[in-house]
Amino acid sequence: MNKLFNIFGNPVSHSISPLIHNYTIKSLDIDACYTRIKLNDGAKIREKFFDLNITGANITVPFKEDAYRTCDEICGIAKDIKAVNTIIKKKGKLFGYNTDAPGFYETIKDIKDIKKILIIGAGGTARAISIYLRKKSYNITILNRSKHRLKYFEKEGFVTYSWDNFNKYDFDMIINTTSAGLKDEIFPIDEKILLKIFANSKYAIDIIYNKQTPFLKLAKKNNLSVKDGKDMLIFQAILAFEIFFDFKYKKEDIEKYMFEAISIV
Ligand code: NDP
Repeated sequence: MNKLFNIFGNPVSHSISPLIHNYTIKSLDIDACYTRIKLNDGAKIREKFFDLNITGANITVPFKEDAYRTCDEICGIAKDIKAVNTIIKKKGKLFGYNTDAPGFYETIKDIKDIKKILIIGAGGTARAISIYLRKKSYNITILNRSKHRLKYFEKEGFVTYSWDNFNKYDFDMIINTTSAGLKDEIFPIDEKILLKIFANSKYAIDIIYNKQTPFLKLAKKNNLSVKDGKDMLIFQAILAFEIFFDFKYKKEDIEKYMFEAISIV
């Protein structure tokens, strides 16, 4: 029986998840396909899931919290993050997972000399990454433009700063989780402040993928090791694929095909 998978989001036309999942499905000779569905209302995820007889789905902006609310059971780290990016249907029930956070961790776990991390941005992805990295014993500080989004992090016990009161420049790694630089050529914070931070740091990561953002270009110019969001995208997809197919296929094979797929974009 042909199984249907998809990504829900809005916008969703730019997503390369269909490409990497379909390439891997075909390479592993699985009878399934993966499509994209644009939704106007996140409250419709459940209805669509059952109406179209979908087996599993990824969820992207802005529906990860709707997805969390719509599942019958929440698994693993998604319970702490309170956002779901992967759903699977089993025996008529929806199970929700978050693979963004462990996907990000996969991209940095082999770097040994990092302890203090500055996360710029306080959106959904910053929440996922900060909660997960703290569980892995990293020391996390959050810096965001607006104050209101910091409330969640304050409640969770993180050290937080907004642009007004930021005064700390001592981090091993800086992660940009804002969308500054995605469709424009701007920095996520003032360039002078970034330069002060970079002067004491070794690594810079931008979770935006397939683009050298101004943030990454500046970090590189200041001799930091840099990485964009491509690896995170692939690793969250590998973990989702394993969940979709109940861990039936070898992780090394999934990884090989997904990296092959992204290299042809
Ligand atoms: P959210 O909308 O939840 O959060 C956006 C954050 O960016 C907020 O903290 C916002 O700050 C900040 N921001 C937006 N514009 C600016 C700006 N011009 N200057 C400074 N700060 C700004 O987004 P997500 O967390 O869901 O996603 C963020 C980015 O991560 C997107 O670019 C997305 O494409 C990428 N992403 C990549 C993934 C991957 O696999 N590589 C996975 C998921 C996301 P404020 O509170 O002040 O508005």
